[in-house]
Amino acid sequence: MTRCFVTAVMRHETNTFSPIPTPVADFGRIGPTDGPARGDEALRVYANTNNPVAAYIDIAAEEGAELVFPIAANAHPSAPAPGEIIDLCADAICEAVQKGCDALFLDLHGAMVTQAHDDGEGDLLGRIRAIAPDLPIAVALDFHTNLSAAIVDNATVIAGYRTYPHIDMYETGDRAGRTLIRALNGEVNPVMAWHSLPVLTHMNRHAPSMQPMKDMYAKAIAAESAGTVLNASIFGCFPLADIPHVGLSAIVVADGDKDGAERLLYDILNEGWERREEFVFPVEPVEKSISEAKALDGGPVILVDHGDNCGSGGNQDVMAVLKEVLRQDLDNVCAGPFCDPESVAQMIEAGVGAKITLQLGGKVDMPAMDLKGEPLKVTGTVRRITDGSFTITGPMFTGVKFNIGRCAVLDTGKVEIVVSEGRYEPFDVGAFTHAGIDPARKKYVLLKTRQHFRAGFEPLAKHIVMVSGPGTCTSDYSLFPWKNLRRPVYPLDPDAESNLPTQS
Ligand SMILES: [Zn+2]
Repeated sequence: MTRCFVTAVMRHETNTFSPIPTPVADFGRIGPTDGPARGDEALRVYANTNNPVAAYIDIAAEEGAELVFPIAANAHPSAPAPGEIIDLCADAICEAVQKGCDALFLDLHGAMVTQAHDDGEGDLLGRIRAIAPDLPIAVALDFHTNLSAAIVDNATVIAGYRTYPHIDMYETGDRAGRTLIRALNGEVNPVMAWHSLPVLTHMNRHAPSMQPMKDMYAKAIAAESAGTVLNASIFGCFPLADIPHVGLSAIVVADGDKDGAERLLYDILNEGWERREEFVFPVEPVEKSISEAKALDGGPVILVDHGDNCGSGGNQDVMAVLKEVLRQDLDNVCAGPFCDPESVAQMIEAGVGAKITLQLGGKVDMPAMDLKGEPLKVTGTVRRITDGSFTITGPMFTGVKFNIGRCAVLDTGKVEIVVSEGRYEPFDVGAFTHAGIDPARKKYVLLKTRQHFRAGFEPLAKHIVMVSGPGTCTSDYSLFPWKNLRRPVYPLDPDAESNLPTQS
């Protein structure tokens, strides 16, 4: 008999300090912009892309199974989402499941907070589990998951991205999906062991390509490759969320052997705890970082303004780092994209070739951080106007067509500034090349990003300088007004103790 599989996407990385609202309409981030995609539309948008759900689609085809894809909801990182988005996703998924379904394959983020619930994925999975207590459920999660009991207790198999920038999304869906197929076929009996440490890892320090995560992940990958366990994943956590269950975590899926799963789990996390100091990022003043960049030989020098990264819920319009670049008179610079629809409209009205003075950026206040938006007065020539569309050529979201809203380029003589109507973290050179700027030929490339720029820009970088600008993604975690975080937590509380069970 033909099996029937259901698949769905629900992804939002919630920065609880962000002033950027998250309306339901924004959950069509990839594809339509008027809310979640459904059915054939969802399939058209996600098939053959580098996303977990694309692997699920391929697995279903390989298995000769019927596939139902009721909903794909995916929004850019921003403030807590309306509870309604969970209702929409849960209703669509539960309806499809109730029509008859042999297994569910979910592509979730893992760091979603709604206005109603501090654990969006746990809320969703709990609702599905309530109507389908025995349904096999595979879940693919982002590396920035804040893992919770509600997520783990209501899933059968969980696997997480092992890269940051995330370039193994398809592979993650494939890992989770294939384990679930083996379980369906009666070949394996997945059991999961998980744990979350009281450690806020720094986002500039926790990538699996860096230590100590590299050594930790080597253990997970070795065990999974050798077949000792079915899946092993480590989550760096998403630390820009004022909720209790933030923390460095890991999950191991083993074939019936819970003790074996726990041994690997505690071995990995014990190393993370012992080396927790390596997850701390030292913050230095913006002036110092820019003057260090100024002294570097050769280029491009990538200036990474990571305190205001829309990829983590930032406004993408905090001007402090560009202001310092102009003040220290750096030359042959491209910068952006800065999100400022008002300035884009002014440049379009002025037209290409016009000289114009703008009050650029700084339009959004950040009340949770007690920061006001500060526009930057800047004069230049409107160099180019675009519709903001380009196709990703780099390794992250390869082949996906992006639209970042209309764009305009302001040329000050020394700095070419890309201004866009929409928010976009520059992980691909397309944001510049589509506007006629070749970042490879610039001495300096100023980007508002944290880690994902590495996908598209690291190959052309001579130097990379991390700049700790202000914003809702500040690298100084002591600036966040924490209220709900579990305490003590390292490094905010340097004396925090490990909560790992003592091993016998
Ligand atoms: Zn992530």
